[in-house]
Amino acid sequence: MFDATRVPWNDIRDQVEFPTRLFVNGSWVQGSGDALTLVSPRNGENLATIETASVADVDLAVQSAREAFESRIWSGLAPRERGQIMMAFAQNVHDHAEELALMISLEMGKPVSEALQTELRAVVNCLRWYGEAADKIVDEVPVTAPGSLALVTREAAGVVAAIVPWNFPLTMTAWKLGPSLVAGNSVVLKPDEHTSASALMLGKLAFDAGIPAGVLNVVPGYGRVAGRALAEHHDVDVLTFTGSTGVGRALLEYSAQSNGKRVWLELGGKTPSVVLEDADFVQAVTSSAQGCFYNMGQMCTAASRLLVPEHLLEQAVEIATEVAKSMSPSDPMDLASANGSLVSATHLERVRGFVDRAKASGTRIYEAELSSELAADGSYFAPVVAVVDPTHELAQNEVFGPVLAVIPYRSEEEALEIANGTEYGLASVLWTQNLTKAHELSRKLRSGVVWVNCFEEGDMTIPFGGVKGSGFGRDKSLHAIEKFTDLKTTWIQL
Ligand code: NAD
Repeated sequence: MFDATRVPWNDIRDQVEFPTRLFVNGSWVQGSGDALTLVSPRNGENLATIETASVADVDLAVQSAREAFESRIWSGLAPRERGQIMMAFAQNVHDHAEELALMISLEMGKPVSEALQTELRAVVNCLRWYGEAADKIVDEVPVTAPGSLALVTREAAGVVAAIVPWNFPLTMTAWKLGPSLVAGNSVVLKPDEHTSASALMLGKLAFDAGIPAGVLNVVPGYGRVAGRALAEHHDVDVLTFTGSTGVGRALLEYSAQSNGKRVWLELGGKTPSVVLEDADFVQAVTSSAQGCFYNMGQMCTAASRLLVPEHLLEQAVEIATEVAKSMSPSDPMDLASANGSLVSATHLERVRGFVDRAKASGTRIYEAELSSELAADGSYFAPVVAVVDPTHELAQNEVFGPVLAVIPYRSEEEALEIANGTEYGLASVLWTQNLTKAHELSRKLRSGVVWVNCFEEGDMTIPFGGVKGSGFGRDKSLHAIEKFTDLKTTWIQL
């Protein structure tokens, strides 16, 4: 769909304007919260000063969403018409993909080619997929006794608040907007502090494509102010969230203390990649390490634990270390870059803290080298391979950085126990040539997704989400629409 090598990035860089105000009811409006500075982790450059939403601004955005919903200007459209406008929205994103990709890359440090060819492609595909699905959904007429007719119909829930993170900022947003908008809801989107500008631009593109004023409002702001105000708002019907497990739990409390709105949580992960004796070992270890270091490990599904038979440990470390070297970061604007920077200096300190503690406790650590050409003010970190036991913090906690924990196991039973032995349950990976084992073990892995002999494969048709501390509810697929709709039963006595 996109080819980053054909884009005149420097010209776009000169032209691109970072939106700085809130987008509410179809207009740019002033935010009365404390302004936030967008600092590029690529080189410490100040990109823009963004106005943020105060509690009062969030209230206005929710009111605007409520009025749009009750007016039925969107919720009352024929599904086919909504679908056509969603397709126009997708096309508008497609036509502005290069600016959006550049913004994301500068905001959060991923390679600009990745931002365009992977992230924007996913966003356009997602919006198109839900646009196409709009009039393909059917309601139910259950069988009942003669003399009665029962209808089970789906209705939009009302006002949806979406709070999203920065790691795949527009993909995570599209996963929320696709199903909630196509079902007829109005939305208030709170992007992450680091990726506010690209989210604001997305809101404007939706409006320009024909999504009516008030149906999609974007309120940049601080999590503890704007995010919390949305979660505590009495007129929000559904809260959908992607982010950390700690914040997810706080949102459940805010809901309980306000109107008991339903909350959907896509949270953290600690994906185990289990390599069995009969696997294609080189492929399994290589793909797992790549799956850990990709996007600088800032992925909820990052394959951050590699479980290998004990006697193959040294071989695994050797292969993983080679992958680490090949994925060492370079300037995100360099089209050959396999990895960019971490999201911020604060996050860099956090990731470094994990590795420093491991070193101090005598853990075997292999670090790739950082190029001396990288901007000194950038948040760069070289991938790390560590050999640990299953109780080590690198094997238990989500680092959200390019740190691979290699864990030896002695039996398949032990491998399974280690794989399931964290608080998370988002995704698991299994490598084996044995079909029976693939089936048996994938059933025993406690996670929302299991990849067998591959990593991160998927399609819009399949649901995505976790169990245990990784949350509940599913993004993607037609199942996601269930989160944003209510079933209405109408019983007619004939
Ligand atoms: P985070 O939880 O700190 O922030 C996510 C969002 O929540 C941001 O918009 C932030 O402003 C907001 N927020 C923060 N505190 C809040 C509060 N008290 N009330 C309301 N909103 C608040 O997460 P992060 O560090 O930005 O993102 C990384 C996390 O996201 C990781 O744990 C990662 O695994 C997870 N993640 C999960 C998935 C998934 O689909 N399961 C996908 C991507 C990322």
